[in-house]
Amino acid sequence: MRKLFPALVCAVLGLCLCGCRQAAQPIRGVIVTGQNNHNWPVSSEAIRQTLENSGLFSMDVAVSPAAGEDMSGFSVDFSRYEVVVLDYNGDPWSETMQQAFLDYVQAGGGVIVYHAADNAFPEWEEFNRIIALGGWGGRNEHSGPYRYWQDGALVRDTLPGPGGSHGARHEYVLTLRSGAEHPIVKGLPARWMHAEDELYDRMRGPGEIGDLLYTAYADSTLRGSGREEPLVFTVDYGKARIFHTMLGHAGETLENNPAMQCTGFQVLLLRAAEWCARGQVTQKVPADFPTDTQVSLRPEYRP
Ligand SMILES: [Zn+2]
Repeated sequence: MRKLFPALVCAVLGLCLCGCRQAAQPIRGVIVTGQNNHNWPVSSEAIRQTLENSGLFSMDVAVSPAAGEDMSGFSVDFSRYEVVVLDYNGDPWSETMQQAFLDYVQAGGGVIVYHAADNAFPEWEEFNRIIALGGWGGRNEHSGPYRYWQDGALVRDTLPGPGGSHGARHEYVLTLRSGAEHPIVKGLPARWMHAEDELYDRMRGPGEIGDLLYTAYADSTLRGSGREEPLVFTVDYGKARIFHTMLGHAGETLENNPAMQCTGFQVLLLRAAEWCARGQVTQKVPADFPTDTQVSLRPEYRP
């Protein structure tokens, strides 16, 4: 293909036909942040750098007012973007912003739900459908079932109890599940070692998981649930392309941020952002991906 479609042709078309990428228009995205019980200045910057350093993305960062301040002027023109990354866990958005977000998603928009973004808005019913599973904020059996991997299937468990917990941070293995042919994970190892991170467990919600990509075992000796928890998946929600990763607890600084410096975390983010935006993944599986015994870091947030 490269001979038939040299980069010049791609540049003229504004669409890459050969994998040269430089010629393709960068994907336009926005990171929504500004309130979080996590270190959002670090997480949003790590996400921005990871995506932009690939050369594939051009990212804006929408920073909300601080907690308790007037939210009425905070708005994002979602229609300008191919992918929206949610790094927000805070005060309710204005009704106008909520509706704009729903309009974007329901028109087939691309959304990445990142880590504590799934703690947000426990009372917003439609948001909880979009994230499928959430935690904390008073979530319980009324929020929906627990979902976890058991005996080769993703089960629904309606047992009463709180939604959202995690044990001590540690390195852990992620295991590929039912979505093995999904473009985001196709060709990636079936098992790989994630750098030190939280492992969300006992999450609950409407739970309409589309493709379950990776799970991990929440070891009860580390205060985990003792279940194989769904941590990385897509959500079945109309025409939308929604990717949910519970990975990536932000560290104190960009330099001390292992969960987000993990090559596996970054590669999933990169591949998911392309899929959310354009429905395909053109990125190759990198040589520095972690193995099932060896963590791999990209401390500078670049390949
Ligand atoms: Zn966290």
